[in-house]
Amino acid sequence: MTWKYHLMLLWGALHVVQAHEFDSEFVQYIPGEINVIVSIPHGSRSSPTSWPSRRAGCSNTNGYDCFYSSTSSCVPDPNSCSYGYFTDAFTEDIGIEVANVVKQRLGKQPHVLILKVARKKLDVNRPIFNSYNGKYDEGAQGFAPAQAVYDKYHGRLAQIKSQMMGRGILLDIHGQAHKQNSTELGYLFRLDQIEDLINGVDNLETQRRRCGLLSLLDETNASVWDMLLGPNSLGKYLEDQGFKALPGPSTLQMSAATLSGLNYFNGGHTVKEHGSRYSNGKQMDAVQAEIPGEIRWSSSLRPTYAQALGNAFSDFVLHFYPNILV
Ligand SMILES: [Zn+2]
Repeated sequence: MTWKYHLMLLWGALHVVQAHEFDSEFVQYIPGEINVIVSIPHGSRSSPTSWPSRRAGCSNTNGYDCFYSSTSSCVPDPNSCSYGYFTDAFTEDIGIEVANVVKQRLGKQPHVLILKVARKKLDVNRPIFNSYNGKYDEGAQGFAPAQAVYDKYHGRLAQIKSQMMGRGILLDIHGQAHKQNSTELGYLFRLDQIEDLINGVDNLETQRRRCGLLSLLDETNASVWDMLLGPNSLGKYLEDQGFKALPGPSTLQMSAATLSGLNYFNGGHTVKEHGSRYSNGKQMDAVQAEIPGEIRWSSSLRPTYAQALGNAFSDFVLHFYPNILV
């Protein structure tokens, strides 16, 4: 064989890898072998210059009925119709390493989905249409090329779910700067609802209906308390690795005043849209991991933490989702 033939083979292989790994210029997808998805929507700084930047929405009625358009001449009302635009710095590095650890621990590749466009141009963790007024929402703000990428991203998640046999779980990776040095694990429980869970205020059915791990609840004897706060909770596994989690066992040691004063992200659009809580009969559970700035901005802590979160998530999957390895 000639060197030209070898070059052709190499080019062909590279081309296949590229086609395989990108749903579009802005959506990277690494296909998985198990019912586990790691998604990273806010880590990119790639900013297409021809796209308008997202901005605050406009309001028709004193702060209600917001509508978002990056190209409209309406006057933005940032107080009433705010929008998120910060990059979740270093979450791409961390998330890819988490997926690598999951692959090592479970012996199979998880699905990995990465948005490769900056949040200031597109936010896939927000709706594109407001379900109340039918107008453009925060996500793509009515800009058609951004909306097409949005559809690719969520279409891929829907396609993975549709081919799943049995239960699975999605880990949506984000970053926050709440200055609490704790990873906020979002199962769609609000902070006051976590307080109610700790205090035994609500009955089991109320707890069940609030939870982003609904398929797990419905198919096992685990309780919400077990999954969010117990010895096999994701928070417990992460704390075992030396990093604080909210909720986690350390949450139980806090005074009521301390807990109620914390900032907390309980899970966003992707967890709601693709997780089992709101999708009837679907078996994809979902949890959001909001990684604190204290870790993300530390070049020495990032690799250690990525290993820790990968190990903790693997421990959680192995305990509660043994079906995925069958
Ligand atoms: Zn985020």
